[in-house]
Amino acid sequence: MTTPPHPLVARARKLAAEVLAPQAERVDQEGVPASSIEAVKRSGLLGVSAPVAYGGAAAPASVARETAEILAGACCSTWFVQTQHHTPVMTLAGSELPVRERLLGPLAKGEMLSGVAYAQLRAHPRIPVRVTRERGGWRFDGTVPWYTGWGLNDVMLLAGVTDADEALFAFTEAREQPGLRPSPPMRLAALTASRTVSLELDGLWLPDDAVALRSPYETWAATDRPKSTNASPAVFGVTASALDLLDSVDGDPTAKETARVLRARLDEVRRQANALADHPVPTERIEERLASKTRAHDVMRAATTAAVVAGGGRSMDLGSPAQRLDREGMFLLVQGQTAEVRRAHLGSLGSLGSLSS
Ligand SMILES: Cc1cc2nc3c(=O)[nH]c(=O)nc-3n(C[C@H](O)[C@H](O)[C@H](O)COP(=O)(O)OP(=O)(O)OC[C@H]3O[C@@H](n4cnc5c(N)ncnc54)[C@H](O)[C@@H]3O)c2cc1C
Repeated sequence: MTTPPHPLVARARKLAAEVLAPQAERVDQEGVPASSIEAVKRSGLLGVSAPVAYGGAAAPASVARETAEILAGACCSTWFVQTQHHTPVMTLAGSELPVRERLLGPLAKGEMLSGVAYAQLRAHPRIPVRVTRERGGWRFDGTVPWYTGWGLNDVMLLAGVTDADEALFAFTEAREQPGLRPSPPMRLAALTASRTVSLELDGLWLPDDAVALRSPYETWAATDRPKSTNASPAVFGVTASALDLLDSVDGDPTAKETARVLRARLDEVRRQANALADHPVPTERIEERLASKTRAHDVMRAATTAAVVAGGGRSMDLGSPAQRLDREGMFLLVQGQTAEVRRAHLGSLGSLGSLSS
């Protein structure tokens, strides 16, 4: 007897099949439409990890991973826009500051979508966004290099570093306002659809009650650093979709055999990655996590390359799912990259046995 899937897994599959996958090539070229965001909001998936008391599902981490894999496999751009939301939700869930009562409910219930602008904190000791005390609130100056979901998000969680070397996270409305100016949407090799901009901050002022987290930089970084060492479920989603495509090539036993072999590798690397992600101490087994993440990237690149090869010249058509998955996979190689992840990945590529003569 098989157990039925978690209701949010069932909803993710329905959203993927009915909304995301059928228009993935068009969305890739034209941008994530507001209608897809409305569908994501209605699905309940924005509250997958949020506390039940605030309208969320507080689902196990395995469910959050599986739903992420399903969405990313259907349309990586839509997955990426909505994945930003989960950091603000978890930040509020762990916060005891007043903004929790104002925003956690609407975010957990999917009434509002949040973006996040915090990757720049990882450039420390360089400080791309500086926060200073001013008029009983906080003043933000500097540049956010990447901000996804512009025009789709309702609010954003913005991070900078204070004069006392604290990481400070505060919410503001996701719109142009005094002291906050977006660049035009970036044209990228992949994920242009995610409506990513950079933000110029020039005296943006936010009140004390907008602050969701304030922590010594090193304390924040100690919990942030290990997170990026885990394999992303999105990598498994893109891999699985590329393998489905490969498997669907009619009358080509080689394509099917390659899909079978790579699917076995995908299952193995996913099992390993899930076991590491479920390990109770996130700061332990870092080298193993990095090796597993790199293996996940290797299997993904093999799968997306195989899908392109199997499609021949037609794979170059912008309407072809093979080229879209290949470009989405390229993006996932650098998403959330830290110095440690970069070192591990480059090191592994430099020691590829198959390339030696
Ligand atoms: C399309 C897109 C959308 C994004 N959207 C968001 C968003 O909405 N919110 C958000 O917060 N972030 C977002 N990001 C940021 C994303 O997570 C970053 O790409 C990732 O963290 C890497 O940052 P970077 O490339 O800007 O950093 P970089 O500083 O260029 O480098 C990445 C890492 O490698 C290290 N490094 C760089 N060069 C060297 C070197 N020569 N030697 C040793 N180490 C080095 C750096 O210290 C850093 O840790 C987005 C990125 C992309 C591509």
